[in-house]
Amino acid sequence: MTDATSAALSRLTIDLGAVRRNYRRLLAELTGVPSAAVVKADAYGLGADRVAPALWDEGCRIFFVATLDEAVRLRSIVPEATVCCLNGLLSGTEEVFLEHRIVPVLNALEQIARWRMAGERIGRELPALLHVDTGISRLGLDEDELDWVLETPSVLTGIDWLYVMSHLASADEPANPMNAEQLARFRDLRAVLPRKMKACLANSSAIFLGTSYHFDLARPGIGLYGGRPNADIANPLECPIRIEGRILQLRTVKAGRTVGYGGAWKAERDSRIATVAAGYADGYLRSLSNVGVVALGDRLCRVVGRVSMDMITVDITDMPLSELSPGAFVEVLGPTVTPDGAADAAGTIGYELLTSLGGRYKRHYVDTA
Ligand SMILES: *Cc1c(COP(=O)(O)O)cnc(C)c1O
Repeated sequence: MTDATSAALSRLTIDLGAVRRNYRRLLAELTGVPSAAVVKADAYGLGADRVAPALWDEGCRIFFVATLDEAVRLRSIVPEATVCCLNGLLSGTEEVFLEHRIVPVLNALEQIARWRMAGERIGRELPALLHVDTGISRLGLDEDELDWVLETPSVLTGIDWLYVMSHLASADEPANPMNAEQLARFRDLRAVLPRKMKACLANSSAIFLGTSYHFDLARPGIGLYGGRPNADIANPLECPIRIEGRILQLRTVKAGRTVGYGGAWKAERDSRIATVAAGYADGYLRSLSNVGVVALGDRLCRVVGRVSMDMITVDITDMPLSELSPGAFVEVLGPTVTPDGAADAAGTIGYELLTSLGGRYKRHYVDTA
């Protein structure tokens, strides 16, 4: 073991093939409706520079990011794609949008006016998406602005509208009545908007709420990265990431002794403890202290004591000794210890776990068929 990889104490393997299969699985659910891909926050931590070209190969032509910086970076990664910026058109950034052919999602009347004027300056209608708020109260035209649009349809002229879009607040809860309320509001708005615009509503979870949510384009993010659509169905998507940490040391801890900072775990019996290289500086959340699990082969072992910056301690008392030695890799997050499962234990969501993946891992990409 002399190569650079073998020196790494923890590694992150990303299977682009699994991301591709997830995209295809979402398309199958969409029965003919095309799908964009949301690759904000560096493709939820997986690496937009690798994920976006893989999805381009699968036929994805529209990509969403959050910030203008992300959009500019993505422009050179997928030069021919339509790159849409969700966070809107901040005053003074018009030239950057134009120079890099970024499509803004226009979230307010004032942004619409500025984009129209930018188009007038160069003598053509510029492409954009219109974001209407149907209940999440975050971004998009609010009720007053929409009333104004309906009274004064001319405010929408002079722009090449690609889609009207909105975002659901509770798509991961199929029984939540807010889904149907937002859908109805979106439909009503779309029917009265001056031009018959194509529509885009569904994030990953909403794709699984039924065809009435699909419209003309979907915009999944987390589903591409293996996140479950909702808690009521078996997750049909694959986990494309695997984080492994090496066992640094094995030790026996006598009954009554404690492990880790604050003595937050006490051995009730003589216990064997493996110290594993993965900590909160790697994005292994500290809230997994005493509740996380790791996988040794297909067996699960509990994280005991607090998560430290660079390591965790794992109770391996019930594991056969022969299978363990310092230097061996254990899965701390991946297909067996899923981000959703770990997030449930940590009191958060898979999105936060993925986007917290640290920069310290040795990243390794594979592309399985
Ligand atoms: C992040 C985001 C998405 C993607 O949502 P997922 O739940 O990750 O599929 C879609 N639309 C908007 C507006 C977003 O901000």
